[in-house]
Amino acid sequence: MKIHNFSAGPSVLNQEVLKKASEAVLNINNSGLSLLEISHRSKDFVAIFEQAILQVRKMMKLSNDYEVLFLQGGASLQFVMLPYNLFREGGTAGYLETGNWSSSAIKEGKKFGNVQVVASSKDTNFDRIPKDFEIPDNLEYFHFTTNNTIYGTQIKDFSNFKGIKVCDMSSDILSRELDYSQFDLIYAGAQKNIGPAGTTLVVIKKELLNRSQRDIPSYLDYAVHVAKDGMFNTPPVFPIYATTLTLQWLEEQGGLPAIEKLNKKKANLLYSEIDRNPLFTGHAVKEDRSMMNVTFVLNDESLKNKFDSMWKEAGISGVNGHRSVGGYRASIYNALELESVQLLVNVMKELEQIA
Ligand SMILES: *Cc1c(COP(=O)(O)O)cnc(C)c1O
Repeated sequence: MKIHNFSAGPSVLNQEVLKKASEAVLNINNSGLSLLEISHRSKDFVAIFEQAILQVRKMMKLSNDYEVLFLQGGASLQFVMLPYNLFREGGTAGYLETGNWSSSAIKEGKKFGNVQVVASSKDTNFDRIPKDFEIPDNLEYFHFTTNNTIYGTQIKDFSNFKGIKVCDMSSDILSRELDYSQFDLIYAGAQKNIGPAGTTLVVIKKELLNRSQRDIPSYLDYAVHVAKDGMFNTPPVFPIYATTLTLQWLEEQGGLPAIEKLNKKKANLLYSEIDRNPLFTGHAVKEDRSMMNVTFVLNDESLKNKFDSMWKEAGISGVNGHRSVGGYRASIYNALELESVQLLVNVMKELEQIA
């Protein structure tokens, strides 16, 4: 039976990508060697590495003002690396607090200087994106989370953001068309939308390299990675290969315009059912709803066991909500197919029939 994977992360990858990745583990490019046992400086791997960077540049339409890196340590290390590199002594950095991940970024930022939480939606359990806030001038940088994986909210409008804009895009990276060059630094753990766990994409404007003037340990210094063409040390070869395959797959689907269209279709299908079906209520306010993580609760908790056994029997996996919100979270990342969302919607309708 086909299992429909709605996991929040690590999450669904395209089947062809998984097949090719597993083949390369046994034999890469008919060399008789595994991808896992060749040098990261070999011709085969360097081609894979360069292609991943090229694909990111192309899809985000990045100019030569930007550098693209594939690092390790997840988004969590970027919570530290970013202030280490950008936050000058004596300055103040601004953060938008829209969920647990932004709170974690704030916590690390505070270790480097004065942090101002410019706006927060904590009071309403992060069910929305704060609006109408004023970003002070002269901030070291302004940090925000474009998509809040746990709460199911997403920033749609960046027009009032100003200064040096840095963002955690872990859970909606390459899911939609955006003017990516409006941002100065973008980071994303690969495991939500573009690959497996083990590598983190960092896109950084060159002029930000060496900004903080701090004595940064080598691995944590973006400029060191850039100076070594992204191979300061051994990169995570397998996660990067699977990411390259995913980016190739994305391009074959028609790139960002096509995937955004599909993602909207999936999200609309599921949100329409949540709004129509009297048994369910969405967590996020409508205007800030995420196209990637759909959070909702059952109005009558006594139906929980019934609903849970129904979706499990249908082959659905990974829709349990995060403990901070409860209920359900359907993560509908790029590689999740429309038919999987349709199946979940059908189960919700069936529950309504028998309830
Ligand atoms: C998952 C997630 C993180 C944490 O990523 P790690 O790679 O596990 O450190 C950070 N931010 C967001 C928005 C996430 O979804």
